[in-house]
Amino acid sequence: MLMRIGGTETASLDEVWIEVKNPATGELIDRVPAGRNEDAALAVDAAEAASGSWKKKTMRERGMILFRAAEKVREQHKDLARLLTMEQGKPLHESIDEVRGYANILEFYAGISAHQSGEFIRLGSSGDGLVVREPLGVCGAIIPWNMPVLIMGWKVGPVLLAGNTLVLKPASTTPLTNIRLAKILDESGLPPGVLNVITGRGEEAGEGLVRHPGLRKISFTGSCATGMKIRELASHHLKEVTLELGGSDPMIVLNDADVDRAVEGAVRGRFYNAGQTCTAVKRLYVQEAIAEVFIRKLKERTSTLNVGNGLGPKTDMGPLNSSGQRDLISRAVEDLRENDHGTIITGGCALKGKAYEQGWFYRPTLVTDIVPGSPLVTEEIFGPVLPVMTVPNLETAIREANNSRFGLGASVWTSNMHSARKAFDEIHAGIVWVNRHLTIPPEIPFGGVEGSGIGRENGQDALDSYSRTKSLVMGW
Ligand code: NDP
Repeated sequence: MLMRIGGTETASLDEVWIEVKNPATGELIDRVPAGRNEDAALAVDAAEAASGSWKKKTMRERGMILFRAAEKVREQHKDLARLLTMEQGKPLHESIDEVRGYANILEFYAGISAHQSGEFIRLGSSGDGLVVREPLGVCGAIIPWNMPVLIMGWKVGPVLLAGNTLVLKPASTTPLTNIRLAKILDESGLPPGVLNVITGRGEEAGEGLVRHPGLRKISFTGSCATGMKIRELASHHLKEVTLELGGSDPMIVLNDADVDRAVEGAVRGRFYNAGQTCTAVKRLYVQEAIAEVFIRKLKERTSTLNVGNGLGPKTDMGPLNSSGQRDLISRAVEDLRENDHGTIITGGCALKGKAYEQGWFYRPTLVTDIVPGSPLVTEEIFGPVLPVMTVPNLETAIREANNSRFGLGASVWTSNMHSARKAFDEIHAGIVWVNRHLTIPPEIPFGGVEGSGIGRENGQDALDSYSRTKSLVMGW
C-alpha cells in the first residue's frame, strides 16, 4: 500500500520500502514506502494547504464527514478486522471489537459536534466578552502497533472535528489498516490534505514530522523513551504535546470480591491482545484470605486459553506483534528464572511445534512468590506475563499500587463501596475501574499521571486539547 499525501497515493521520494509481515506466520502481506524527512515535509505542506478551508467549515459539517466514515467502517468491518489481524496478530474477534470501537469514537465526536458553542460574558454596563475556540493548525499523530485502529480513532476524531488538519504516522509493523481507514475518510468527503498518512521508520519519518516547524501539536502513544524524546524535540518550536506512554496497571482483588468474575477480569485484563495493551493488568494484588482459591482458579482458567493464529476460529490469544517484542518477554522471564525472583506456575516459554514455528507466540504465564523490586513488577511488561502478589489488606494494596513510576489505570474488585471509593481516591492513576478493567468508552477522558504521560484522549477533554480559546472584548 502507498502513503496518502494531499488525498493521493504516493511512494516515498526515494522508493525504498518496509515489508509488513504476518506475526503468526512470518508471511509477507504487503509493503509500504519507507518515508523520509522530505516525505514528512510534503505531508505537512499538504496539511497546511488544506487548513484554511477546513477550519472555515462548521463543526457540524466536519462532524457529518466523521459520521459517514463511521458508517462505511461498519459496512466494511469484517475486511478491516481481517487485515488488522493479519498485520497485528490479535484474534479476529478482538479486531472486530477494535474496528467497531473506532467507529464508536468517530460517531461520538460527530454527535457532540452539534452541541459546541462559545461563551458570552457580561462585563458590567460598559462591555461584553465573547470566548470562542479555534483550531491549532496542523497537528501530527504518531501511533503504535498494539491497538493501531482504536488509537487512530482517539487522534483523528477530536483533531479533525476541532478544525485542525493532520499528518499521521503509523507504526512500521501495522500501517495497513490505518491507510485503509484514511482512504475511507477521504471517500466520506474529507477534502484532500486534511488527513495525510506517512509511513516510515520512527527515527526518520517520525522525527522528521515532529521536528517540522509547521506543526503546532504532536500527539504520541508509545514507549516512555520515545515519548520523552518527542517532548524534547517538540519543545524547540513550543509545540503542544499529548503523550500516552503506557503503564503498569495494578488490579486489586479484595476478600469480598466475586472471585469468578475477578478471575475472568484478570484473564481478559492481562491476556487480551497478548498482553500488549497500555492498560493491561500488569500487577495483580490479591487479599490473603482468598489468595489460594483465586490463584488456583486463575491458573486453571489461564491454562484453557487457546493460543494460535488470530484468524483461527477458536483462538483466544494470538502471537506477539514482532520478534523484538517476543524477545523482550522471553528475556524478562529468563532474568526472573536466573535471579530466582519468583515462581512460574504456568507458561514461561515460547510455544513449540510446527504450527508455531514461524510466528511470535508466547505462552500465557503466571508468576507468584515475586521478590520485591523485581523488574517484572517495576517495569512495564508488554506481553502475556502476570505477576500475582498477596496482600494483607487494602491499605497495603494501595501502597503497593502506588509504588510505581507509572499511573495510567488501576482496578479494584470488591463488593464494598467504601473500599472502592477509598481505592478511587488514593490510587495515583488517570482512570480507576471497579469490578472491571480495560474498558475505555469514547465519552470517558483517558490518560495517565506521572510517568504515564501528559494530556487526555477521548471525551470533551481531547477535543479541547486540540483547540485554544480566543477572546473578544467589546466596549459600549
Ligand atoms: P515506540 O515508542 O518506539 O514506537 C511507537 C511509535 O513511535 C511507532 O510509530 C514508531 O515508529 C514511532 N517512533 C519510534 N521512534 C521514534 C522517534 N525517534 N521519533 C518519532 N517517532 C518514533 O515503541 P516500540 O514499538 O519500540 O515498543 C517498545 C515498548 O514500548 C513496548 O515494549 C512497550 O513497553 C511500549 N509501548 C507502549 C505502548 C502504549 O500503548 N503505551 C504502545 C507500544 C509500545 P516505528 O514503528 O517505525 O518504530
